[in-house]
Amino acid sequence: MSDVTDLRISVIGAGMGGLACALAFAKKGFKKIDVYETASNLGFVGAGIQLAPNLARVLDRWGCWAKIQAEATTVTSSSIREGSTNKELALVQMGDVSELYGYPHCVGHRASLAGSLFEGCQNEPAITFHFSTALESLNAFGPDKVSFTVRPRGGETYEVETDILLAADGIKSSVRTALLRSINSSAEVEDTGQAAYRIMLSRSQMAHDPEMLELLDSDCALRWIGEKRHIVAYPISNKSIYNLSTCQPDTNFAAAPSVTYTTRGDKSAMLKVYGDFCPLVLRMLDLVPEGEVCEWRLRSHKPLERWTLGAVTLIGDACHPTLPHLGQGATMAIEDAAVVAECVSAVPVVDGKIERDALSRALQVYELLRKDRTYSLVEMAAFSGRTLHLGEGQAKEERDRQFAEARKKGNAVPDKWASPDVQKMIYSHDCVTEAQEKFAELFSGLATERTNGVAK
Ligand SMILES: Cc1cc2nc3c(=O)[nH]c(=O)nc-3n(C[C@H](O)[C@H](O)[C@H](O)COP(=O)(O)OP(=O)(O)OC[C@H]3O[C@@H](n4cnc5c(N)ncnc54)[C@H](O)[C@@H]3O)c2cc1C
Repeated sequence: MSDVTDLRISVIGAGMGGLACALAFAKKGFKKIDVYETASNLGFVGAGIQLAPNLARVLDRWGCWAKIQAEATTVTSSSIREGSTNKELALVQMGDVSELYGYPHCVGHRASLAGSLFEGCQNEPAITFHFSTALESLNAFGPDKVSFTVRPRGGETYEVETDILLAADGIKSSVRTALLRSINSSAEVEDTGQAAYRIMLSRSQMAHDPEMLELLDSDCALRWIGEKRHIVAYPISNKSIYNLSTCQPDTNFAAAPSVTYTTRGDKSAMLKVYGDFCPLVLRMLDLVPEGEVCEWRLRSHKPLERWTLGAVTLIGDACHPTLPHLGQGATMAIEDAAVVAECVSAVPVVDGKIERDALSRALQVYELLRKDRTYSLVEMAAFSGRTLHLGEGQAKEERDRQFAEARKKGNAVPDKWASPDVQKMIYSHDCVTEAQEKFAELFSGLATERTNGVAK
């Protein structure tokens, strides 16, 4: 084979990471991309999502951003408030984000992001979706030959051979388990001890309450914080929906650590957890219909030893699940996709052919480009959660002093998501340009390591 775009690309999972992988490779001109997804359709939960400039930059390259932005809310400020009193601890102005980073910080509906990626994929003849088809086993990691077995729902299993396998199969990734087992490693689950309710209120539900309407009509992202808990809230979908995402101690899932990730929650339990929050918050939580409370378990892993083996690599939550406190989980999965497509596209053709070993090295370059950055954001999200959830005491007093100082001077904020220095680090990142600039050096560096017998 002398043309990288003839390589067969297989993707497991059609979540944000999987959809983005398919689209990224199609945009690079690859001609055969197959996506295998257990579910019968996209089936995204109703929830909001943060759309930061570093994500917009990637989506715009693929022609997906304009439509998403048209429905999204452009955030012009972020207000961090004490949950119990609604007192503002800090107000961070974000009106200049677009000027600073080329794109605004928006918040939108998950279905809008996923729908645009899917629509982009559907416009690419190279991409074939196999819904209701689950990966059952990985038979060979390559790089010479990658093969795996899938089972269509209600049908017979069959084996697929491919050149590159991208595992975007989420936090419960079976590819991750198989890959780590093959190198005698494992993925240590970190118990975050946290769970989240996700709530969407419609304009008609809020219409009777002027204080709520003011929030819905604003361009402000709000965070109410209290001991061991917080709530993030913002308007989405052309301000027809107010999205709330909470974070509280995990009590419901503790008994079944690895089995379940979402559960139907109990409304009275939810109201009790936030019982000491201000009346405005409680009135909003009370609008959730009985029986429609959904609670998510928030999971995390210790950093993995490797993401790549042969011509198989991990993408998104499969390799770097994160607490949602920086709003970067899906963004990181989509950035992974853009970077892995850049790396594979850049594989050199030597003497008219592509060496199998070079494919593996290209995937390792992807891993090198992404690992430190994603793990540092995962750690920062966890750190931010610890700071936001402080109980009474010296540490909380110091945190609130820093909030007050930031309010006066407009400098760093203890809530990392809203902190201008952290925003700069996250928002200015152009993962595609970085991959283009660093690929050649990293790729040849890995070759040298191999010659010296260092790499496995
Ligand atoms: C409460 C909460 C709030 C969040 N808020 C934000 C936010 O504001 N901004 C943000 O960027 N991120 C946010 N995130 C994180 C974000 O949702 C995830 O990081 C992101 O969706 C991960 O995408 P993924 O494609 O890696 O995995 P997933 O979305 O989990 O997709 C994996 C897919 O693989 C499929 N699959 C699994 N196993 C198989 C198999 N064997 N065969 C075939 N298919 C398979 C699954 O059905 C699924 O469709 C939040 C997360 C939570 C829990």
